[in-house]
Amino acid sequence: MGPLDETRRVALVTGSGKGIGRAVALALAKGGVPVAINYSRSESEARATAEMISEAGGTCRVFKADVSKSDEVHVLFEKTKKELGPVSILVNNAGITRDSLLVRMKDEDWREVLTLNLEAAFLCIRESVRDMAKARWGRIINISSVVGLIGNPGQANYCASKAGLIGLTKSVAREYGMRGITANAVAPGWIETDMTAGLKPEIREAMLKSVPAARPGVPQDVASVVAFLASDGAAYVNGQTIAVDGGMTMV
Ligand code: NAP
Repeated sequence: MGPLDETRRVALVTGSGKGIGRAVALALAKGGVPVAINYSRSESEARATAEMISEAGGTCRVFKADVSKSDEVHVLFEKTKKELGPVSILVNNAGITRDSLLVRMKDEDWREVLTLNLEAAFLCIRESVRDMAKARWGRIINISSVVGLIGNPGQANYCASKAGLIGLTKSVAREYGMRGITANAVAPGWIETDMTAGLKPEIREAMLKSVPAARPGVPQDVASVVAFLASDGAAYVNGQTIAVDGGMTMV
């Protein structure tokens, strides 16, 4: 039996129709864990992710929910519990950017980013910890970002949300460590997804110079680290932030 295919484990990955979330859902499903795939707008991508999982012999369900809304989060976890079982591996991956220089940043750009990137993670953790504590086994993995560690001009809202996730991770790690639950953050650097597809060529070139690995990351680079943190082998890794950035930050 592999490290991820213990019976009765169930994963929920927010925003897993595409990008990093899709790769994480696939990696967990390939490890034998039934996965709840969540999307808010990208239905066809989410269905395609489900197809990939089925083709790989995995089990999944697809659920639409805006995870920034607490009532929708509640229903999402209820449905997952009913169809797959209580969530024991939670990956808070859904995220957005609304970039602009600070003086031009609109109130709603600040709020939208903080609400989805940070508050949604809190809502999902709150929904899942009781069942994890009951089972005395749980894994919470929050997808932060290297810019939550080092900052970035034009991304005050995004960086604040990603730094907030790190504080949230550490608090959960301290509060629930004795119940067999670990909480860790993964901080990706530059990963090729829709989120980074619009970067200007000159910015890509400058970023490439700052990556010792001399290439952008791919979603699977992040997914394999998440799969490790979700495994029994990572039982004693708690409250950490692991950068997956080709050596870009080394903080
Ligand atoms: P992406 O391809 O744009 O994916 C973002 C995901 O978030 C989508 O699946 C999207 O689903 C979901 N989402 C957005 N709003 C949602 C909502 N209200 N409810 C539920 N899901 C929602 O970007 P990505 O690069 O894979 O990003 C995944 C995570 O990695 C994010 O947290 C991002 O901040 C983080 N990250 C990415 C990079 C990078 O370089 N790509 C670097 C560091 C950190 P819908 O389309 O269905 O809304």
